Amino acid sequence: MKGLVIKNTGSWYSVKTDDGQVIESKIKGNFRLKGIRSTSPVAVGDRVELVANQEGTAFISAIEDRRNYIIRKSQNLSKQSHILAANVDQAFLLVTVNHPQTSTIFIDRFLASAEAYRVPVVLIFNKSDLLTEDELHYERMMMTLYQTIGYACHEVSAATGEGVGQLIPLLQDKITLLSGNSGVGKSTLINRILPNANLRTAEISDAHNTGMHTTTFSEMLELPEGGYLIDTPGIKGFGTFDMEPEELTSYFKEIFKFSEGCRFSNCTHTHEPGCAVLAAVENHHIAASRYQSYLSMLEDKDSNKYREAY
Ligand code: GDP
Ligand code: ZN
Repeated sequence: MKGLVIKNTGSWYSVKTDDGQVIESKIKGNFRLKGIRSTSPVAVGDRVELVANQEGTAFISAIEDRRNYIIRKSQNLSKQSHILAANVDQAFLLVTVNHPQTSTIFIDRFLASAEAYRVPVVLIFNKSDLLTEDELHYERMMMTLYQTIGYACHEVSAATGEGVGQLIPLLQDKITLLSGNSGVGKSTLINRILPNANLRTAEISDAHNTGMHTTTFSEMLELPEGGYLIDTPGIKGFGTFDMEPEELTSYFKEIFKFSEGCRFSNCTHTHEPGCAVLAAVENHHIAASRYQSYLSMLEDKDSNKYREAY
């Protein structure tokens, strides 16, 4: 039997089999994933093989190869990592230009780490109903900026429902990770998309607050049109890792394009003569905010703060 892991409570996994039943499952014995020391080797989004047992539950006997996975290092001393989700097709990053303001650094870090994991991101600008003329103007500028770089942007109000309809077809048949700072409206949006999810989001926040389940509990919400929404508390981005400046450059799409004109192939775009990126910043072909975000990630890397960035 094969199926999709849709919920992980830490000890049990809910697996939706290909014929549509949900079976509570456990990991068999000392099942380990090569190369990963994890408190929980199976994650929501995993395709697994099951061996049924008499009690109506099952053992997970194998995991299919993953397209990608999101990992979080645990904060405690064990230094174990935890796989939050696997096989993510795309991320929706929910942002607000006010109430609260999402910083461009936060957005750009998220985008860069998603590029590193090759996960496409759709930017959703929420709370459009709350914005003043000036804020709306700023929001539209931000949308133009990110659209020009190549990210799809949508303006919505989760509270009034305005614009939410345009998101529905984007979600169909995909596993979508919903991310964003706390307070930007993730739960409100989920309740708008899935009116019956009320109880489940409450459960998730409870599990989050007790601390005990924080590192393991995650769930995918099934969408009526097909597809799943992952609302895992505390995902602020994808993990980061050691990388060379050239690699970091490639995660900022427009900076990467200009960097082809730099005189030195290992240019860090900070001080080098003949740097095409610096020239593009000067000429406003690269937004100052994007360049600042690039610099801040470069500094993190230099000061070795990198691993703790999320
Ligand atoms: P989360 O922390 O990302 O899950 O954010 P919530 O969904 O809990 O929303 C935080 C607050 O913002 C709540 O008081 C919501 O009612 C409010 N909120 C969410 N979306 C909107 C919106 O589009 N417009 C307005 N005016 N308020 C919103
Ligand atoms: Zn350069």
